[in-house]
Amino acid sequence: MQGSRRVTESILGLICSLLFALAAAAVPCQDADLIVRNGHIITMDSAHPSVSAMAIRDGRVLAVGRDQEISECESKRTSVVDLQGKTVLPGLIDVHTHGMEWAKGILRKQLDVTYPKVHSIADIVAMVRERASQTAKGKWIAGAGWDDTKFSEHRYITRADLDAVSPDNPVYLDHVSGHLAAANSAALALAGITRNTPDPAGGVIERDASGTPTGIVKDTAMELVAKLLPPDPPDINMQAAKLISERASALGLTTIHDIFISSEEIRGYQDAYQKGWLGIRVQMSPRIGSIEDAEKLAQMGIHTGFGDDHLKFGAAKMFADGGMGARTIAIYPPPVEGEPGNLGVLRWKPEDMQKAHLIAARAGWQLETHAIGDRAMDEVLDSYAATEKELNLKDPRFRIVHAGISTPAIQKRMKELHVVVDGNPPFVYWIGSWFKKYGPERVRWSYPAKSYIENGIIEAAGSDVPVTPISNWWGIWSAVVRKDLQTGQVLAPEERITVQEVFTLYTRNGAYAGFEEDKKGSLTPRKLADFIVVDRDVLNVPADELKDVQVLETWVGGQRIYEGPRASGLPQ
Ligand SMILES: [Zn+2]
Repeated sequence: MQGSRRVTESILGLICSLLFALAAAAVPCQDADLIVRNGHIITMDSAHPSVSAMAIRDGRVLAVGRDQEISECESKRTSVVDLQGKTVLPGLIDVHTHGMEWAKGILRKQLDVTYPKVHSIADIVAMVRERASQTAKGKWIAGAGWDDTKFSEHRYITRADLDAVSPDNPVYLDHVSGHLAAANSAALALAGITRNTPDPAGGVIERDASGTPTGIVKDTAMELVAKLLPPDPPDINMQAAKLISERASALGLTTIHDIFISSEEIRGYQDAYQKGWLGIRVQMSPRIGSIEDAEKLAQMGIHTGFGDDHLKFGAAKMFADGGMGARTIAIYPPPVEGEPGNLGVLRWKPEDMQKAHLIAARAGWQLETHAIGDRAMDEVLDSYAATEKELNLKDPRFRIVHAGISTPAIQKRMKELHVVVDGNPPFVYWIGSWFKKYGPERVRWSYPAKSYIENGIIEAAGSDVPVTPISNWWGIWSAVVRKDLQTGQVLAPEERITVQEVFTLYTRNGAYAGFEEDKKGSLTPRKLADFIVVDRDVLNVPADELKDVQVLETWVGGQRIYEGPRASGLPQ
């Protein structure tokens, strides 16, 4: 029995190598622009998962194979790079960033109040005191990135905390989730927020027991204050696009999707691209915050896919609910721990969401909708089902962004509707402590990567930077280990996935989510030559090393756009 299996295996092996040799020979491989050889090239293509050499011409992969085979592609003008045994992967794809927002935060020199830079409200108060001492009376002090779950005080910042050190300067500090912010009394006064101000639709002005605003504004209520912040210099978006490209390429990203961006930000990307500053590829996802936004987008006469392989329009983005950090995700009972009656917020009336989805999809837009709570996801799935049916769409690839609490019932519906999940592997590590407020049953179904694979649901991956660092190596590591930063506890261990599986999320599935599977996601002849060289054999290192991987080179369309290890092991 064993002997015959061995014979069968060796015959199969022989047939495979013959077929492979034939296939390699069949590729007309000559006059390559570039050959990389003597490497460990992980192609993410099951036809030939690991090869040592790759030939490139006109920005695309011409052939892959053994060094000797690929040397056939060489001509006098071919550049040859010796990889010296190093590991190569397809360029990583992050389908959910707020790259512009993140980069502008850096360019504005906002107070950086992210963990691990700050550990307490006291740390932040000290930073605000110092900034106030250097800032003229009445001028704004802005900052971003605080996370109450990582404070020693374990509570939100209040206006009283900030008033004590900044009575004369309005202060506005964004929470890391992007779904709430803390303002001081001077800022609330400028915004006209008093105890009599009603909560805006889809937002909350947090109040104490006596009804006085605490300084915390959530979701749409943030805009009441944020709109008063001083205007940016005119070229900030173009500079931000340049910064994103530089930082992302140093971390191995060759494609990002920038989500919920404004018309100024779209212009910034376009200007940076025209100046030759955009090394990485970008899919821009415009925002739909109202039915009027959907109508305006439809009237422009462009849709998903417009642009070129470098800069194009991706999906149109909407929000169905809030965030876990703000405790505004829309859930079914029971409510969030310690807040009886809090089942979160839905940003749209169901019929309005459906109307906006229909307008955008009819105009040719792929849809992606932020939904974290199960109640929000059901609303989105209802709307997607109705839209698909109404327009008789064959392969719309509608996406659910985050899909935080993805119960078996929700997954069944996702599978039926062929919905793509824009998941967030790094969340388990960086913000896993937020999940726990929603109880153990919901922790079990939080970001369930293994279940998606088993249930045939395509999941692509995103950092959601600035919610977690722009380095996707944190996400790659987190998907394999699923440890929570605060306790080290493994959250829903049954949802851990293998390194090979996590790379699929960051390559092939990222390409699929963006309708680019014929161009990206694997190192396959005719696809774009987007690849990275890393400092270790990523398929065979101890899991804990995955977060420490250094990118040595990043190539986009056969051009090296980054070379040299990044400076430090700190969160990036
Ligand atoms: Zn986001």
